Amino acid sequence: MTVQPELKTGDTATMTEIRFHNTMSGRAEPFVPLVAGEVSCYTCGPTVYDYAHIGNFRTFVFQDVLRRYLRSRGFRVTQVMNLTDVDDRIIQKSAAAGVSIREYTDKYIQAYLDDRRALNLQPPEYIARATEHIDDMVQLIQRLTEKGFTYVSEGSIYFRIAKFPAYGRLSKIDVTGMQTGARVDMDRYDKDNARDFALWKAPKPGEHFWETPIGPGRPGWHIECSAMAMKYLGDTLDIHSGGVDLTFPHHENEIAQSEAATGKQFVRYWLHAEFLLVDHEKMSKSVGNFATLRELFAHGHKPSSVRFLLASVPYRSQLNFTPESLQGAASSVERLRTFAARLKSGKFPAGASPEIASRAAKALGDFDSGLADDLNTAQALAAIYDLVRDLNIAMDRGEFLQGDVAPVLAVLEMFDSIFAVLDDDDAEKLKSLGVGPSSPTLSDAEVEALIAERQAARKRRDFASSDHIRDQLAQSGIILEDSRDGGVRWKRK
Ligand code: AMP
Ligand code: ZN
Repeated sequence: MTVQPELKTGDTATMTEIRFHNTMSGRAEPFVPLVAGEVSCYTCGPTVYDYAHIGNFRTFVFQDVLRRYLRSRGFRVTQVMNLTDVDDRIIQKSAAAGVSIREYTDKYIQAYLDDRRALNLQPPEYIARATEHIDDMVQLIQRLTEKGFTYVSEGSIYFRIAKFPAYGRLSKIDVTGMQTGARVDMDRYDKDNARDFALWKAPKPGEHFWETPIGPGRPGWHIECSAMAMKYLGDTLDIHSGGVDLTFPHHENEIAQSEAATGKQFVRYWLHAEFLLVDHEKMSKSVGNFATLRELFAHGHKPSSVRFLLASVPYRSQLNFTPESLQGAASSVERLRTFAARLKSGKFPAGASPEIASRAAKALGDFDSGLADDLNTAQALAAIYDLVRDLNIAMDRGEFLQGDVAPVLAVLEMFDSIFAVLDDDDAEKLKSLGVGPSSPTLSDAEVEALIAERQAARKRRDFASSDHIRDQLAQSGIILEDSRDGGVRWKRK
């Protein structure tokens, strides 16, 4: 396991205060965890009825950036992520495929975990499958029943939202005047249909069900997250996150279930990621405008480009996905990798310059304050781009000295502990996933651009960068032949 660097900018009191936008208050608030130095996080994971799409991964990458940033600031993070492996769609699809729910979902869980690895998402401390926590859900429903928050109708158990006056506070819906006793059985519905929702669903003929003390049936989606969050993290947790579409009804219902049972605040900070869009419409399975990671990889895109693109747009801004934006991300990663290679293997004059040390310290400070400001990754990246631009100039002029390498390397390490794109391991990842070309294919124009970049590096005698570009081209099956007149010919293997 790699050790994550921590910011060593001195006393934490002098570091920028972390602020997160809390959906509950509608404002950015200073982040102070319940227990000093520790953060408990609950992450709504995927419903494993199919491959996750990159819209889903936009939210999962945000949750990873959040986790990594908190760790870089020295917090001990305990993160729980659920896997929804029973719901209406899973029951339908596994029945259609003629296999058990377990067998059906195992395949997509494995694919999801493989995809997470491809995107360098750190594993949460607990990954909890809903079907392995049925007892916890049943016990929570029993507690709610003892306190009078539930009623039974046709074998299903419902939560009576009229008994919970705070209902609607997170999503800001007004439930006054709502017809009491109106019910909804579906897990997913919109604000206009706010109703009493199902905690436990009576089995339909032929459907998979569990025999339990509260009767035969299966859990609703919402009770799953309340039960598993509180089991691993206690009654009150610091951060709960997901995409904005989970605010209502999922998170509203989680609050109602948890707080009705415990009488305590369930979550202190609610963080919601905005959508990834395609042609300005939410990417979703139902619209059909989705792309899976594997599809992108099969088209020659790299895991690092996808991660970088998803991480670089601040999580509360919508991200309109285009193939060009992915190519832009690939070039940014390549520029950063080329700089890292130049830094690590370049030969610089002896000595150390105080200006460069303070330039590096400034970049580190700016990088951190960008992230401290509600994870403003764009601002944090700008600090790194500025540094790279200035230092490339200093290197070209011979003003960058050997002793300047270490402080700048420390900045890159900090950057990469959050963005996680500098390791040149894309080809390896694609190979282990068994998808896409084992080496990324480059268009003629991309090859020409890289060759021009390499020529420029050679001209300024930056052989570390020119070698790096040659290796990168070789990985994509491009062979270079340097001609005597200083020109370059190339061909594909
Ligand atoms: P699901 O598997 O549908 O429960 O979704 C898993 C996660 O992906 C949830 O946090 C959703 O809010 C999130 N999500 C779904 N679609 C998008 C999208 N287009 N952009 C960003 N996040 C999304
Ligand atoms: Zn959830």
